[in-house]
Amino acid sequence: MQPVGPGASTVSRTGPAAGPDLDRRTITSTNSASLDGVFSDRSHLPGTAGYDAARDGFDLSAIPAPDVAVSATDEADVAAAVRFAAGRGLPVAVRATGHGPVPGVDQGLLIDTRALSTVTVDPERRTATVGAGVPWARVLEKCAPLGLVPLCGSSPDVGVAAYTLGGGLGPLGRRHGWAADHARRVRLVTADGEAREITADTEPELFWAVRGGGGNFGVATELEFDLMPADALYGGGLYLPGESASELLAAFGRCTATAPDELSLSVAFLTFPDVDAVPAPVRGRFVAHLRVTHLGPAEGAERLIAPLRAVAVPLLDTVRPLSIDQLGTVHGDPTRPQPVSCGGAVLPRWDEGVIDVLLAEIGATTPHMLELRHLGGALARPLAMPDAVGHRDAGFNLFTSAYPGAGFSGAMAMQNELYRRLLPWSGGRAVYNFTARPDGRPADARGAFEAPVLSRLQAVKAAWDPQDLFRFTVTIPPAGTTNRADSDSPRTGTAPSRAPHEAGHGPSSVPVGGGTQYVGAVPAHPRRHAGPHPRGPRRHVRRAAGREPRPRAGGRPAAGHDADPNVR
Ligand SMILES: Cc1cc2nc3c(=O)[nH]c(=O)nc-3n(C[C@H](O)[C@H](O)[C@H](O)COP(=O)(O)OP(=O)(O)OC[C@H]3O[C@@H](n4cnc5c(N)ncnc54)[C@H](O)[C@@H]3O)c2cc1C
Repeated sequence: MQPVGPGASTVSRTGPAAGPDLDRRTITSTNSASLDGVFSDRSHLPGTAGYDAARDGFDLSAIPAPDVAVSATDEADVAAAVRFAAGRGLPVAVRATGHGPVPGVDQGLLIDTRALSTVTVDPERRTATVGAGVPWARVLEKCAPLGLVPLCGSSPDVGVAAYTLGGGLGPLGRRHGWAADHARRVRLVTADGEAREITADTEPELFWAVRGGGGNFGVATELEFDLMPADALYGGGLYLPGESASELLAAFGRCTATAPDELSLSVAFLTFPDVDAVPAPVRGRFVAHLRVTHLGPAEGAERLIAPLRAVAVPLLDTVRPLSIDQLGTVHGDPTRPQPVSCGGAVLPRWDEGVIDVLLAEIGATTPHMLELRHLGGALARPLAMPDAVGHRDAGFNLFTSAYPGAGFSGAMAMQNELYRRLLPWSGGRAVYNFTARPDGRPADARGAFEAPVLSRLQAVKAAWDPQDLFRFTVTIPPAGTTNRADSDSPRTGTAPSRAPHEAGHGPSSVPVGGGTQYVGAVPAHPRRHAGPHPRGPRRHVRRAAGREPRPRAGGRPAAGHDADPNVR
């Protein structure tokens, strides 16, 4: 389909005309009064409290440093800010919760959307309409009394807008698909500063692209999406001794091979810090944290996870009937701001070679956590109205995340090496929302999409944002332009520890996790199991170090990715 660019069907134009004629290099305190003429007290220059508040957020590893920040209060502000930036050649960065910032925002205009905070639920139509600054927790809260559930992700603190635009992989995804599959409409301020209603009818090609292609095509100001009925939810965490990793992964492989779509499983291996805030049973311990979400009653869920329970006596057990607003507690994601330095990949299917690599990686002294999520089910099914979400057919998603504090850079190097070893299976592919580069360079989206999808996205980008105004994201370069990820030097001021080709890890990925932050993951009074392991004394993790795994049949990188310079 031929992409149609701006001007084809403007639904509405909002906001004041662009402001005074300022060059970006002349945005200083001496002319801030002129900026105030457009945004009043909502524009902020470096060194002010408003500026720091606008760039505040969860991930402390990539704090943006734009020329100017705008705290938007409504769509008109967003449109005015984009027009202001576009008129002066300023690139635009967007910030809601700060869970997915990109490195290198050292110029341009940043739009803080947190004040776009409305949440409306329509129980008849089973939809929610939310402003761009809303985190999932607020939607869960509104939906819970109505017996409706949104397709949120693991963390209730993540922003709805960017999560959904980037695909949105959540614990109910195997039953209902990606969050982007269920977006009904998006209000988007495009690069020309127009606020548009983007639907399958108004702009079909752009609607396809924004559902999975992230923030590359404009600033979303509002989204409407489907809610799902949920009569019963059951889930939580089983915290097993980390030494049972080998047996647990074997059981995990068997369980996921036959799991119904109602069951979502993931397992994380991590070492809890030895601090009082961590419950005694897991304090300072290397654990395997099995996360269970079941859309249905307890009995069915317990029957399905019985083989996993049989692996070892849990140190803690938080699996229980869940209210809808407790869905965000299952993974126990970190809540306190922290530097995030992570990696990730999609893996096509269960493969013993991959498991050998993972078992060689994890252990009590590993400086990062590692999580394997089961995909498949509705995540893999074709849609009646396709969207741009990549790698729908992947079997598993892998995340790793360095523990904050000492050894952070070593943990990053170790993760790079892990992803290099996994390349025969991953092909350098990652889910868009988990794509980032650990080396301080801007991320690009080449690993997040199959080649034809990427080409189509680039054509849409060229039609709607040819100047690449919205480049401060996981970048899809306009068709016919150079990829910034190849040409830009690091803009964070720190040299990469290893060049990407040395790391062998192209579109590496990203966020989730963090050691000490998992303090909040464990309830104060969990059920504690005592007594001996039913199968006798614990064994240690089978270490496969030094054994270089061979790719299995079918484990070659996907076509279209062989050309990636980072894929060997
Ligand atoms: C702890 C944690 C858990 C996570 N769990 C999951 C998960 O389970 N599933 C999943 O799919 N992802 C998950 N993610 C990834 C997350 O969905 C992405 O990083 C997402 O982009 C974060 O959006 P945000 O608004 O919270 O963060 P921000 O840092 O505020 O925004 C991230 C980026 O999104 C873009 N953006 C933000 N708002 C807009 C807008 N209104 N319009 C256009 N572009 C915009 C910008 O490029 C911005 O840099 C997780 C991340 C973390 C840190």
